[in-house]
Amino acid sequence: MEFGFTVEQEALRREVRDFLEDELRRGLWQPQCDAWIQGFDPAFTKRVAARGWIGLTWPRAYGGHERSYIDRLIVTEEMLRYGAPAALHWFADRQIGGGILRYGNDAQKQEFLPRIMRGELYVGLGMSEPEAGSDLASLTTRAELQGDCFIVNGQKTWTSGGSFINYIDLFARTDFQAPKHKGITEFLVPMNLPGISRIPMIDITGTEAWNDIFFDNVRVPRECVIGELNKGFYHVVEELAYERGGMERLMGNYPLYDGLRRFVVETKRNGRRLIDDPRIRTTMAELEVEFEVGRLLMYRAASVMDEGRPPTVEASVSKVHGTGFEQKLANLVMTLLGPYGPLKGWAPLAAMRGLPMHSYLASKGYSLQAGSTEVLKNIIAGRALGLPTQ
Ligand SMILES: Cc1cc2nc3c(=O)[nH]c(=O)nc-3n(C[C@H](O)[C@H](O)[C@H](O)COP(=O)(O)OP(=O)(O)OC[C@H]3O[C@@H](n4cnc5c(N)ncnc54)[C@H](O)[C@@H]3O)c2cc1C
Repeated sequence: MEFGFTVEQEALRREVRDFLEDELRRGLWQPQCDAWIQGFDPAFTKRVAARGWIGLTWPRAYGGHERSYIDRLIVTEEMLRYGAPAALHWFADRQIGGGILRYGNDAQKQEFLPRIMRGELYVGLGMSEPEAGSDLASLTTRAELQGDCFIVNGQKTWTSGGSFINYIDLFARTDFQAPKHKGITEFLVPMNLPGISRIPMIDITGTEAWNDIFFDNVRVPRECVIGELNKGFYHVVEELAYERGGMERLMGNYPLYDGLRRFVVETKRNGRRLIDDPRIRTTMAELEVEFEVGRLLMYRAASVMDEGRPPTVEASVSKVHGTGFEQKLANLVMTLLGPYGPLKGWAPLAAMRGLPMHSYLASKGYSLQAGSTEVLKNIIAGRALGLPTQ
């Protein structure tokens, strides 16, 4: 079978590349690793919005373009290839907008989707809590109905982009008697409500891209509920498939991969190019094969989205594979660089603009965020292979 793109898709890819190359020529930003989750640039997000590349798959009735998920994957693949600062719109474009389309009422679609597409609505994910990560159904943030408002109390943690978001997709417990996964509701909450506070979390890379978010008697209007009360857990399971199934799980460090490919060709040790060492050559070839397999797995997940269903199993497979690739890439670069690996970009002897150390440290979290590798393997075992689960 030949796997190819349509003429329109090739044109879209060219258009995105031209746009990004023009941005680079104008020095508007530098390619970075993890820029899809750590590159916060409102002006860039607005320029992407002006091209119509946010909400590409959404219905025309709400301002979308009704293009396929494969088309969307082409856009995101190119953003990642260039390490573009797309974090402000990534989450809303990837899963929140789709969730609003599936479960939101018409007023919510009319209000939120155009604002996301204009690059004005930055949504963070309020799922995890200090004692509820893999077992999300055990979350304890409470939302108690009093008149027209829910009174919300609790804490979310690890919210990506938490310092920059203006809305949070909040999952809170609304039925305290029901079995734990049957009492959770989804809300889309403005971050400027009284009683919400945020504290940046500094991770091992030194970035402040995440936040703890606290809710202290926050009055959340009833209109913020997305879908039916107490159905939030089912929403999140579906939304996670969209979260896991994207190219960012493989190409988040593409600027490093690109740098490595050039490094092994351009660097000589003892008069011989690194790439002419058979062990390095074989390792690079293996890496390239794993990368291409990863790309195909991501395209498979997108084709399942185009069939109109969440790619629960496909995205679990592609994320486990992609995460493994990214961790292997970061480890390999650090091994090849030896003592030069940890150098920051400003150090005179730093290789690849100092990207390696960031990726090496950040990659430790890849197999945790959006569902840990162990948990995803459980999904694959149970749902794809039919093995007994706990
Ligand atoms: C960089 C980063 C960004 C994140 N961004 C967000 C965000 O924007 N919003 C948000 O809500 N959350 C976010 N998270 C949180 C993330 O979803 C959780 O870290 C993840 O769900 C794991 O939960 P935990 O950290 O509590 O670990 P735990 O659930 O306590 O897991 C600890 C270990 O136990 C293993 N384990 C747990 N259960 C099982 C099981 N049933 N079978 C086998 N092994 C198991 C796990 O694989 C893991 O190795 C982010 C995390 C990171 C690292």
